[in-house]
Amino acid sequence: TEWAAALAAVTELPTDGRVLLICHVNPDGDALGSMLGFGLGLRRLGVRPLQATFPGRPEVPEPFRTMPGLDLLVPASEAYPDPDLVICFDIAAVSRLGDLVDRLDRAGASLVLDHHASNTRFGRINLVDPDAAATSVVVEQLLDRLGAPLDREIAECLYIALATDTGSFRFDMTTPAVHEMAARLLATGLRPGEISRRIFDTRPYGAVRLYGDVLARTQLEPLAVDGLGLVWTYATLEDLDRHGQRPYTLEPLIDSVRCTAEADVSFVLKQVAEAEWAVSMRSKGATDVSRVAVALGGGGHRLAAGFTAYGSVPDVVDAIRAELGRGAVDPGQTGPNLQDQ
Ligand code: 5GP
Ligand code: MN
Ligand code: MN
Repeated sequence: TEWAAALAAVTELPTDGRVLLICHVNPDGDALGSMLGFGLGLRRLGVRPLQATFPGRPEVPEPFRTMPGLDLLVPASEAYPDPDLVICFDIAAVSRLGDLVDRLDRAGASLVLDHHASNTRFGRINLVDPDAAATSVVVEQLLDRLGAPLDREIAECLYIALATDTGSFRFDMTTPAVHEMAARLLATGLRPGEISRRIFDTRPYGAVRLYGDVLARTQLEPLAVDGLGLVWTYATLEDLDRHGQRPYTLEPLIDSVRCTAEADVSFVLKQVAEAEWAVSMRSKGATDVSRVAVALGGGGHRLAAGFTAYGSVPDVVDAIRAELGRGAVDPGQTGPNLQDQ
């Protein structure tokens, strides 16, 4: 089975076998936490030549700069050119690997650990559980089967990952099994209040002011189907500059917009370059935003999806409105009122 193959890929590594861990571009808590938690587990098991990396700018978002295992990280440019084993975390498709796709091609073996339903199983071995609330659920199971100890540092990584992808245990996929895993992690002595404050509830003053500007230009308009609303806003590079903030500061912006009671669909445009935007979309249930995202070159889930868009703000907004008018909205469908990652 895939599990047996995954266990063998690790246990049958030669002692000098080089292992390269990769998570997705613009890493979130699940990407980094799953990768570093597994990396620390491998280290405890005696795996020595071991690196962790992610494509794009080698910049860890400020909230994660206290995560255990950060010393495993190297810039993508310094990652082993031809590792014996590549392990990918929270990556649904090779497009999210950026320039690091060449490491996958040259690796002796590759293992994909993920939970996206849309995962294309691009590894030689794929442990993909679409029912898992986070990639860290798969990671915890694999570490357990490998016989790695669950110590407090590993637990902190996996807890941050689990809390990130469940919206701090608020979304529908927060099953009894999720709380049981959280209990095992907390039993190592973690302090959930302190971790939540550090990871989710701490922002520089400039970021608070930036959110003020960006939220002030939020627009609410009717959706293609009567009675439903669409709410959106955008943030430019100039906004970031004016408040001295980095792009990752805008990752939680969609959460401040999607709460709008009158809207089923929400999206934010986050400027990446002159005419390039990272788009985050959310639905409360009546709309399949992954249909919109896929049609516009991206991907994701029914209630949470994203893509990269090119053009001016009005161009991009018009393109999204047009896609929403092509049957993505089902007025008969009401679903959970929080995103299901
Ligand atoms: P977020 O809005 O939090 O960045 O992303 C929400 C979901 O949409 C993610 O879980 C991811 O699956 C998907 N997603 C976001 N951006 C992209 C993108 O550019 N390409 C693809 N294929 N999926 C994306
Ligand atoms: Mn992720
Ligand atoms: Mn995830």
